[in-house]
Amino acid sequence: MAKEFKGGCLCGHIRFTAAGKPLNPHTCSCTMCQRHSGSLSQVWVEFDSQHVTWDGPGGEPKLWRSSEYSSRSFCNECGSTLGAIDDEPIVALVLGTFDAPNRKELRPSSHSYVSKKPKWWKVQIDH
Ligand SMILES: [Zn+2]
Ligand SMILES: [Zn+2]
Repeated sequence: MAKEFKGGCLCGHIRFTAAGKPLNPHTCSCTMCQRHSGSLSQVWVEFDSQHVTWDGPGGEPKLWRSSEYSSRSFCNECGSTLGAIDDEPIVALVLGTFDAPNRKELRPSSHSYVSKKPKWWKVQIDH
């Protein structure tokens, strides 16, 4: 049986189950991630969209078009960030929404847009 990763928003309206191999786990401090999350860095992990099921009472998250190839996703009840849904068959989820974010397969291996974060904000990437 494939590994499953579950999570959801603050209020529980939006829930997901992601299966298969977690792709490209990374942190990002770009301006869009900062605005979307309210945090200085966001932590991302991607899945093949056919392996992500939106199984909470609210179904799929709301989308806001954020770039030419992607839309940011969020709960329309509590406003929590869920991640991004790309035009490519990729769903990017943010690690803070996972029920068990400490699973080793989800650990970030790179940091994008390091220069956009304050110097005092430390993100440790173990290689
Ligand atoms: Zn919610
Ligand atoms: Zn970013």
